[in-house]
Amino acid sequence: MASLSLKGIEKQYPNGFKAVHNFNLEIADKEFIIFVGPSGCGKSTTLRMIAGLEDITGGTLEIDGKAVNDVEPKDRDIAMVFQNYALYPHMTVYDNMAFALKLRKVSKDEIDKAVRNAAKILGLESMLDRKPKALSGGQRQRVAMGRAIVRNPKVFLMDEPLSNLDAKLRVQMRIEIAKLHERLGATMIYVTHDQTEAMTLGTRIVVMKDGIVQQVDTPKNLYNNP
Ligand code: ADP
Ligand code: ADP
Repeated sequence: MASLSLKGIEKQYPNGFKAVHNFNLEIADKEFIIFVGPSGCGKSTTLRMIAGLEDITGGTLEIDGKAVNDVEPKDRDIAMVFQNYALYPHMTVYDNMAFALKLRKVSKDEIDKAVRNAAKILGLESMLDRKPKALSGGQRQRVAMGRAIVRNPKVFLMDEPLSNLDAKLRVQMRIEIAKLHERLGATMIYVTHDQTEAMTLGTRIVVMKDGIVQQVDTPKNLYNNP
C-alpha cells in the first residue's frame, strides 16, 4: 500500500537553477504514473527527489499521509531502477541483488529466498553466478529490476529503464514491466520518452515542460485531446 502526495514540490539546485516549479500530484495506491516531456524538463529531478537522492527545496512530499522530510531515504520503502542499470561490476548477479538486503541486516535465509524469488520472476535463475559483463543488455536490465524487487518496495521508480535496449527487447520488457506491476502490487512512477510505453503502461500520464506540470490525464484522454 502506498499513496503519494506531492504538494507544491520545488527544486532549486545549489547553482540557483530552478528545475522544478510547484509540482502538485496525488498518486493513488498501485497507480502506474508516467512522467513524459522533453529532455531537461525536470522528470529525473522529480523522481530523484521522491527517491530521496536529491533534496526537496520547497513543498511537501507525503507517503501514506506521512511527510517524508523526517524519514531517512533508506527507510522510505522506495526502490529505483536507473537507465544505466548501475550494477556493481565486480559482484555476481546474486550478490548484486542481495546487496541492499545485506546492508539492511536481513538474515541470510531471507535474502536467499528473496533473491531466488526475484530471479524466478525475471528468468535469471541460471545466471546467478555470472558477473554483469557476461550478460546481455536485457539481462542486465533484469538484474537492475531484480535488485529493486528483492526489497519488496511499496513504491517502484524507474528512470528510462528501457532506453538502452534495442527495439525488440524494449517491446518484450515493456510487457514484462506491465506484468510486474500487477504482480508486485506496487505504486510505480516511470520516466520515459517513448509514447508507446507511456500509452500502454500508464494509468495516468504527467506531461512536463520547463519544470512545470502541463497536463495530467489518462492515456485515453490524452490520446483523444493531445
Ligand atoms: P529530465 O530528466 O527531464 O531530462 P532533469 O531533471 O535531469 O531533466 O534536469 C532538469 C534540469 O535541471 C535540466 O535543465 C538540467 O540541466 C538541470 N539540472 C539537473 N541536475 C542539475 C544539477 N545538479 N545542478 C544544476 N542543474 C541541474
Ligand atoms: P539524465 O540522463 O537523467 O538526463 P543528466 O545527464 O541530466 O541525466 O544528469 C546526469 C548527472 O549530471 C546528474 O547527477 C545531474 O544531477 C547532473 N547534472 C545534470 N545537469 C547538470 C547541470 N546543469 N549542472 C550540474 N550538474 C548537472
